[in-house]
Amino acid sequence: MTVTSPIVRRPTRKVLVGHVPVGGGAPVVVQSMTNTDTADIAGSVAQIHALWQAGSELVRLTVNTEEAARAVPVIREKLDALGCNAPLIGDFHFNGHRLIKAVPECAQALAKLRINPGNVGRGAKKDEQFATLIEAAARYGKAVRIGVNWGSLDQELLARMMDENAKRPMPHEPEEVMRNALITSALDSAKRAEELGLAGDRIILSCKLSGVQDLVKVYRDLAARSDYALHLGLTEAGMGSKGIVASTAALAILLQEGIGDTIRVSLTPAPGESRTVEVQVAQEILQTLGIRSFTPLVTACPGCGRTTSTVFQELAQSIQNWLRTQMPIWRGQYPGVETMNVAVMGCVVNGPGESKHANVGISLPGTNETPVAPVYVDGEKTVTLKGDRIAEDFQAIVEDYVQRTYGVSEGGRVKGEG
Ligand code: SF4
Repeated sequence: MTVTSPIVRRPTRKVLVGHVPVGGGAPVVVQSMTNTDTADIAGSVAQIHALWQAGSELVRLTVNTEEAARAVPVIREKLDALGCNAPLIGDFHFNGHRLIKAVPECAQALAKLRINPGNVGRGAKKDEQFATLIEAAARYGKAVRIGVNWGSLDQELLARMMDENAKRPMPHEPEEVMRNALITSALDSAKRAEELGLAGDRIILSCKLSGVQDLVKVYRDLAARSDYALHLGLTEAGMGSKGIVASTAALAILLQEGIGDTIRVSLTPAPGESRTVEVQVAQEILQTLGIRSFTPLVTACPGCGRTTSTVFQELAQSIQNWLRTQMPIWRGQYPGVETMNVAVMGCVVNGPGESKHANVGISLPGTNETPVAPVYVDGEKTVTLKGDRIAEDFQAIVEDYVQRTYGVSEGGRVKGEG
């Protein structure tokens, strides 16, 4: 993957999650989470494999029952047999301490434990249960994400901070106290984890909220107050375009400021929709910001009254889909191909200009224009396509360009170089 960002990343401690480095200048990592029952081994393996193939570099799964905990090592084994090395993260709430004690192989099979300080117990039991999880992580050399969430904030801590605030001569707004409570919960828990023997370079923090402005404020503060690696995500982002827009708005602001070492886009899939959409959106956020490149992107105009047929929409869609399906093969064969830009334009108004800026571009004929489509390669017009096979011919041109430009010769040199 190529790092193309001029963004100055906030310095954080580097954490190894399995073989994947997080923070400390490593590329921002894309993470996802399953929605299968973890005890359903076949279903979980299939979904983790699909998420990994889509580009998820870390995959989280819930560990909520003893059956689920026992399934984790089997899932790991089956993924390894499939050649899928995605590190697994166990999501523990309420009974994590019991599950880790009962099934130590679960912790051993995981690369990271996610612990929510608001959901590890109440009163005197809380410290003991938190310690059990942290000590297991330290014993097996695993990373831990201390993941605080707006919806499950430690109520004892919040009540104490609200009381303290009420006694101030100039009390803060309750929302500010709540945001501060989230950060305090994360930082205090991290400090406690270090006191219990977990190294600081095994700790990742997150403070997730569902409101964009609140999330931005909390992460700016969190980033200013610690150098732990940060996992970034808007929680409960929602469905469809609402979820995508809300996540993109929040993550883009923070990533632009160099905040965030791993990201997850928490989309609610439509019934029957693939879980991998969240991975695609996360990648597109990073690629659009120029932080990392994953898949060649298609620049396409929106179309207007000059495009009265669907030819141009169909070509743009089929080329984008084709590029995406090629990537699992191309990634190894054609290093750098993920940075390629392809333009599919609807008419002569902006078509030639935009196509010249792409690596490969085509300007389709608009309504009443001569039915020909000039193709531009690296800014030069190379051929004019016409007839019924424009889509197939254009795809062949793109494929040829990929082989010539990104193919590695036997000597290891990229073709087209020098
Ligand atoms: S390039 Fe042509 S078809 Fe596309 S939006 Fe502009 S004017 Fe309309």
